[in-house]
Amino acid sequence: MAWNPNIHRSFDTIVAVHKDFPNKVIEPCGNCRQLLIEYCPDIKVILNDYDNIGKMLV
Ligand SMILES: [Zn+2]
Repeated sequence: MAWNPNIHRSFDTIVAVHKDFPNKVIEPCGNCRQLLIEYCPDIKVILNDYDNIGKMLV
């Protein structure tokens, strides 16, 4: 499917993972957080806080 700039997409929640750690949720890096704050201030991120996985704002 080709990219179509006329189609608006929105996201409620994101999660970051790494191919070398398939069972682990990782934190978005500083650059990603900055972009999320600027372009999607209401988006939620799924994070792993010790043994608890939770959804929170950037
Ligand atoms: Zn990043």
